[in-house]
Parts: sequence; structure tokens; C-alpha cells
Amino acid sequence: MSKIVVVGGGAVGLFTAWYLQKKGADVTVIERTDMTDGCSYGNAGLIVPSHVIPFASPEMLRKGLKNMFKASSPVAARMFPSADLIHWYMRFLGAATNEHVEKSIPILKDLSLLSKSLYEDLKKSGDLDFPFWQKGLLMLYKSEKVGEELRHEAEIARKAGLNVSNLSAADVHKLEPDTLPLVSGGVHYHSDDHLNPAALMQSLQKALPKLGVKILTGCEVTDILTEGVKATAVVTSKGTIPFDEIVVSAGMWSLPVLKKLQVRVPVQPGKGYSFKVEAKAPIHYPALLSDANVAVTPLGNGLTQFGGGMEVGFGDMKIRHPRVQQVIKAVGEFYPTQTGMSIGDSEIWQGHRPCSFDGLPFIGKLKAYSNVFVGTGHSMMGVTLAPATGLLLSELIGGEKTSLDLNPFRIER
Ligand SMILES: Cc1cc2nc3c(=O)[nH]c(=O)nc-3n(C[C@H](O)[C@H](O)[C@H](O)COP(=O)(O)OP(=O)(O)OC[C@H]3O[C@@H](n4cnc5c(N)ncnc54)[C@H](O)[C@@H]3O)c2cc1C
Repeated sequence: MSKIVVVGGGAVGLFTAWYLQKKGADVTVIERTDMTDGCSYGNAGLIVPSHVIPFASPEMLRKGLKNMFKASSPVAARMFPSADLIHWYMRFLGAATNEHVEKSIPILKDLSLLSKSLYEDLKKSGDLDFPFWQKGLLMLYKSEKVGEELRHEAEIARKAGLNVSNLSAADVHKLEPDTLPLVSGGVHYHSDDHLNPAALMQSLQKALPKLGVKILTGCEVTDILTEGVKATAVVTSKGTIPFDEIVVSAGMWSLPVLKKLQVRVPVQPGKGYSFKVEAKAPIHYPALLSDANVAVTPLGNGLTQFGGGMEVGFGDMKIRHPRVQQVIKAVGEFYPTQTGMSIGDSEIWQGHRPCSFDGLPFIGKLKAYSNVFVGTGHSMMGVTLAPATGLLLSELIGGEKTSLDLNPFRIER
């Protein structure tokens, strides 16, 4: 039985361990934290086949350049970038073209629909126990200019085969009668789902050891040993662990981990914030408040999570309050019942999205090594794409035909 080490116990690492172990491998997950609070825990929990347009697009470039140095804008970029961030910016600029967007739409759609169907199977099987809601996703707008952009994107998604409805303000009020959002209209992506990400991660942590997966927490990988084209063992804070194959799924930290093998994967942190409140009036549907890039996730029993912010290149844990205030302000403007929220620092969660330069994840084997596999760079869609990534890596490592073509996700692209 093949002995496989998975570096990183986020959503991608745990789903990779899940599918590998199901195929009979002997899997050890190595995670440096206690697995209670990483990027996979406090995100918005939206499963988003709707997000067919990659992060690297002319539209994102335009918005980013306009707003990136404003303290209260939803998107920010680091003023004094490191060499790795400059490399990432250059690759991002090269990728943000209409041609790349056109090519990526079917690729992202197929990957996220594969993941959605895996989530549905997992729920049906009862193997994992986490709340999963199938109500679609509302993209809401106030300004007519944003409405125009949303209708244009909805048309692209419809052409790609997704079920999308345009909504008037009255349609939105019918769906949200208790909060009567102050909107001009919206778009309802019926393809999307949502879940409680912390509950998903806890359920995986509970179920994996029962399958036979070993999870080593508080254990940091500090080096990877090699012999020729083979990696042989990881050096960790708790000793050296040999393996037959290794999967690096360390989120934004995949960059330093892979540097141990002289590989520079263009991944940078995209930091965001979220907080949970007991909603003053029930919000029934998950939503993106598109004018402000704020995500709204109802988690059941009145508990609602709000989140936003995309600080590219910020790998620290400092809370930038204007960004959090921007979320609070936008929520009050869209949902009058929620105006005046006061959120203390201890209630603010922050996470670092592992952003690839082109908005497509890295899923595959390193060219230079016969047994090093990578699953990272899922940006704003890591929870959405984690099951599909895990399944595809397990097929690749098992020498099977993969469910999707992995060429668009190759590491050295
Ligand atoms: C505000 C916000 C909202 C979001 N909303 C959504 C959403 O609605 N839908 C969606 O699909 N995605 C969303 N995302 C993105 C999603 O959270 C990420 O893409 C996803 O969690 C990344 O998972 P991962 O497993 O790749 O990385 P991580 O969750 O970061 O896991 C990587 C793990 O590797 C560990 N590690 C790193 N280095 C080492 C080492 N040397 N040794 C051992 N362990 C190591 C880390 O401690 C970490 O636990 C959101 C993100 C943010 C910030």
C-alpha cells in the first residue's frame, strides 16, 4: 500500500486525504496548527459554480487598479511588494485578458460542477455530517451600472449552461420578506449551494481517522528530502517522515514549502475578513452584495455571517479596520434591519485565500519530480473546489484516467 503524506490540513488537504484513503492508500496529513481556525474555517461557505469568470480578468484589473490603494475599498494590493509578489503581479497582468476569460469559463464550470455533485453524494451517503443548503445564490445590486455588469455576467453563465434568473427589486423582496433589502435588483444563480465551513472541517476531522487517515497536528514541515527525481521524506518539527508520494496542499504557504524543491509556484495571499452575528431579522438566502463585494451567509437559527475584503499580498494577521468597516457599512446599506452593527476585534476572523496568478487552481504533478503532487491556488473558490481537487489528485496518483483533463491546472503553466 502506497504511503502518502499530505502537507496542509485545510479543505483541499483533507478532501485529498479522503479520496486517497478511499482508494486504499496509507495517508498521513501533516498540519502545523491545531486545525480550528485556518482559511477553510471562517470563509463564506458558498459553493459557487456561478463563478465561471476567473479572478484574472480585464474587469478585475480595471477595478483593482482604480481602488487598490484606498483603505476602505474591497480590494487592496501591497505597495512595497516582495520579489514573489512582483512575479505574481507580472503573471496576473499577462493572464487578465478576454482570451483567458473565454478559455477558463468551461474549465471552471466543469470543475465546480464536479465538486457540487461530490458534495451532494457526500451528503446523501451520510459519510460526512455538515449543514448544506441548496437555495442558490443571490447577487444583489443597488447601482444600475453594477446591475448591468451582473446581467452581462448572468448571460455568460446562461450560455455556459447554468440556470440563472434576473430579479427585480420586488422579486428580491418576495425572497427576503423579513429584511426587504434596499436593492435595485439581483440575479439568482440556482446552481449554487452553501454550507457551514467550520462544521464541514470538523466533520472531516472526525471522519478521516475512522477511515484510517493519520492526522498530525502542531507539526510543521520544514524541509523535503530528495534523491534524484524522487522526494523521499519530509523533515518536520516532530521528526522525519518518509513517504512514497507527497501532496503539497498548504494553501498560500505552498509557495515556501515548494521552494524547498526549487519550485516557485505563483500563489499569493488574498486576505479577507468575516464575522458572525445573530441577525436582527432573518436573512433567508446567501447573497453577494455586488456593489461592495460583501458575502452574506445564513448559517441557520438566525446566525448570519458577513465577509469581504481581498488584500493581495498581505500574509500577516493585522486587522485593517477600514476594510471591516466597509463590510459593516455595506451590510447596513443593503439590509436596513442590520444597520449599526458593532463588531469587536475578537469577533473578526481573517483568512488568507491562496490566489493563483490566473484564477485557476494548480492541480497535478511537478514536472521535475516523479512523486510530488500539488493542490493549491484555489483563490476565492477553495471550499467549492476542494472535493473535485481531492478526487482528481487521488485518480492521478492512483494511475487512473482523471475525471477531467488536468492540463489547464498544470503547475508549470
Ligand atoms: C473572507 C473569505 C471568504 C471566502 N469565501 C469562500 C466561499 O464562499 N467559497 C469558497 O469556495 N471559498 C471561499 N474562500 C476561499 C477558501 O476559504 C480558500 O480557497 C480555501 O480555504 C483554501 O483551502 P486550502 O486547503 O487550499 O488552504 P488552507 O485552508 O489555508 O489550508 C492550508 C493549511 O496548510 C497548513 N500549512 C501551511 N504550511 C505548512 C507547513 N509548512 N507544514 C504543515 N502545515 C502547513 C496551514 O496551517 C493551513 O491549515 C474564502 C476565503 C476568505 C478569506
